[in-house]
Amino acid sequence: MTEAPKRGKVVVIGAGIIGVCAANSLADEGFEVQVIDPVEPGSPDQCSYGNAGGLSPGSCIPNAMPGIARQVPGMLMDPEGPIGLRLLDLPHALPWLLRFLANARRGRVERIADGMIALNRLTLECYEPLVRAAGCADLITRRGQLFAYENPNGPAGSALSISMRRARGVRVEILNAVQMRELEPAISPDYCAGVFLPEQGQCSNPGRLVAAIAALAASKGVTFTRLAARTLAAERGRITGVATDAGLIRADKVVVAAGAFSGPFARAVGVRVPLISERGYHIMLPHAQTGLRVNVNAAERKFVAAPMEGGLRLSGTVEFARPEAAPNWRRAEILLSQARHMFPGADLSGMTRWMGNRPGTPDSIPVIETAPRHPNVILAFGHGHQGLMGGSVTARLVAELATGRAPSIDLSHFRSSRF
Ligand SMILES: Cc1cc2nc3c(=O)[nH]c(=O)nc-3n(C[C@H](O)[C@H](O)[C@H](O)COP(=O)(O)OP(=O)(O)OC[C@H]3O[C@@H](n4cnc5c(N)ncnc54)[C@H](O)[C@@H]3O)c2cc1C
Repeated sequence: MTEAPKRGKVVVIGAGIIGVCAANSLADEGFEVQVIDPVEPGSPDQCSYGNAGGLSPGSCIPNAMPGIARQVPGMLMDPEGPIGLRLLDLPHALPWLLRFLANARRGRVERIADGMIALNRLTLECYEPLVRAAGCADLITRRGQLFAYENPNGPAGSALSISMRRARGVRVEILNAVQMRELEPAISPDYCAGVFLPEQGQCSNPGRLVAAIAALAASKGVTFTRLAARTLAAERGRITGVATDAGLIRADKVVVAAGAFSGPFARAVGVRVPLISERGYHIMLPHAQTGLRVNVNAAERKFVAAPMEGGLRLSGTVEFARPEAAPNWRRAEILLSQARHMFPGADLSGMTRWMGNRPGTPDSIPVIETAPRHPNVILAFGHGHQGLMGGSVTARLVAELATGRAPSIDLSHFRSSRF
């Protein structure tokens, strides 16, 4: 039997969750696919490795909500607070921060929420066939997501986000102290009120998920090359491939999925996106046998506790620093003190720590489009705090853009022209 003719060659820049999911969907469409990345898919160098594992079809609350401008100075001044910015990095971050605050207007927030839910709603549905084929369906469960408050009136203070979720069809339950104990006895009784989203899912090892989806892609003939892309190569105004230290890799189409490092590739096709690294941290506590069942977001302290294959993971922090700057491990230490508070008496020995670069746009949603002036370049980056859940759905959209089919989601939310 002769092999079906390939549709052309696609080079994907980046083997994080966005790149490996896209490689799969492109291979399924009959493209010859090569993924280039200097690091292994699923390695700790990727943002996709160390996240909190939240896969929330109901995620639709932007990071910049009305009132945030009043909260940011306090968060920045608090050395234990959820945002970190060294004075040195202020000139780098300020333009982005101003745009971020501008997105907190009520009308903008509703529109952004529509974009977020359009993408995230399909996350589990789009992962299902992938993880089944990759033999890692065990990684994804659907036990819900809990926002835990220390202030008994905390949920009332979240009335806007609760109504925004409900308006978009997301099930939300408000819990009192007794119901909190019943749902999640593992956490300290200091957390006395909750908002529970029962339909949300979680991944118990995001690094293994990326590696397994990459292995699935490889089984479909996708090749992975350990190389860094330098820039996009053009001849007579048309993109012809990707320039690397090992020479030019020719391609009919290029997908830019290099996470926080995608900016220069977008600029090479004339697209300027205010993309910043919102650095986040996690700690893993391998011996903390807390019995925690669901992902818990500490609503006031702004971190996530998640039960993972390797133990208990606490993650959080937004630190604005240049991606190449050395990690500030003090941020991870703060998470350890949060663990002491949320899980009193737990064995917190054997801690490991990690830092990753979230690819952040000021409006919390990614860029997913065909580059306006280069129809053979697809941009798929900037998934910020939600790239794990965004991976499976973005892959579907990338395949639709590559084949010229009508996108299954209104892509107007994700166009770079919004900036
Ligand atoms: C603490 C924390 C918690 C989070 N929690 C969640 C969560 O619960 N749920 C969720 O959905 N999301 C979460 N996120 C966000 C999520 O992890 C990211 O949005 C997602 O991993 C981004 O995926 P990516 O593939 O775009 O980027 P990455 O995983 O960073 O992959 C980008 C790849 O591009 C490669 N690359 C860079 N430059 C080049 C180059 N020149 N040439 C070739 N390759 C290159 C890099 O080596 C890297 O492998 C969290 C993030 C953090 C930090």
